[in-house]
Amino acid sequence: MAAAFMITIEKLNKDDFEQVVFCNDKTVGLKAIIAIHDTTLGPGTGGCRFYPYKTEEEALTDVLRLAKGMTYKSAISRIPFGGGKAVIIGDPHQLKNERLLERFGEFVNYVGGRYITAKDVGVDGHDLQVISRKTKHILGIEGAKNSSGDPSPATAFGIFHGIRAIAKEIFKKESLKGLHFAIQGVGYVGYHLALDLHKEGATITICDVDKEALHRCQEKLPVTVVDPSKIYDVPCDFFVPCAMGAILNRETIPRLKCRVVAGAANNQLATLQDGYDLISKNIFYAPDYALNAGGIINIAEELQGYDQKRAYDRISHIYETMIEIIRRSEKEKKPTFLIANQMAEEIIESAKKRSP
Ligand code: NAD
Repeated sequence: MAAAFMITIEKLNKDDFEQVVFCNDKTVGLKAIIAIHDTTLGPGTGGCRFYPYKTEEEALTDVLRLAKGMTYKSAISRIPFGGGKAVIIGDPHQLKNERLLERFGEFVNYVGGRYITAKDVGVDGHDLQVISRKTKHILGIEGAKNSSGDPSPATAFGIFHGIRAIAKEIFKKESLKGLHFAIQGVGYVGYHLALDLHKEGATITICDVDKEALHRCQEKLPVTVVDPSKIYDVPCDFFVPCAMGAILNRETIPRLKCRVVAGAANNQLATLQDGYDLISKNIFYAPDYALNAGGIINIAEELQGYDQKRAYDRISHIYETMIEIIRRSEKEKKPTFLIANQMAEEIIESAKKRSP
């Protein structure tokens, strides 16, 4: 098959990963990697990121990390997906064209349905449509039978329910009224989350580097705006990272004046030690992949014919997942980020035992 498409497919041996393949098709300029981490619970599923990585090594590190993360996210969310991810190496503004995207669709077929692709950074709804001309192993396309195409309202809805669980367990409050949230980044997810929090009577402080994103929020909601450099210093109940990863680190943690960190950004802890540093400041950390799984839970519903009500019911179970994480963390005297990993691994192990 590789020769027919004039692409070089290289199989990379990576410990702990079921399959990692590299595609180099000079005819269309496609350099891409698909990483399949674990398919115990279902096909490895995760978006395709189109990004100007500086080196192939950097792209490989990213795709492996992201694919493994998807295994844990889908497992803890109890959806029938394993962990997988793809990256296309290059600047989407310069490289992206229909031939390249179609060829990527053929590359997805190469792994025979063991990987299902979707949207990620640098890939939009139109791109998914183009990729789908060549592969049926794709989810999250806009359309009547599918989810909306934009995962962020679903992601925000899931975070909102996780936050409700934290308010109940940590603050002993049934409502969010009077609790103060400092949101870092009011892009797609941060904005929708701010709307949900406001409806519940929360007090909201926001920051963003993008003025338009700030204005959209200010027009709709009574929010206080601070400079992005000041967001870590805001005295609040919840610090809500919705911009970038690795923002919980040795520079920022000493500045935090919150009781809880709970947000959308992936890989918020720069290192494991930062998780322990939060604990020593008595700050509760909501494991990011358990809290921000609403988007993937939403597209999982496409497998049985998408129904928004059923999908959002499933997403709201992030409430129960978060309660379980908190209670087990207290009972077993282990950090929440380790308990979440343990829960995901238990779900995978018990599926392995059940399978013949
Ligand atoms: P987005 O790009 O729409 O929003 C991010 C916002 O953060 C932007 O408005 C940007 O201007 C702002 N920002 C960037 N740097 C900043 C800084 N230093 N200080 C303050 N603001 C800054 O992205 P999104 O879709 O809302 O996702 C937010 C985060 O959640 C990302 O880390 C993403 O990986 C993660 N996430 C998103 C989804 C989803 O469904 N969209 C799902 C899971 C995880």
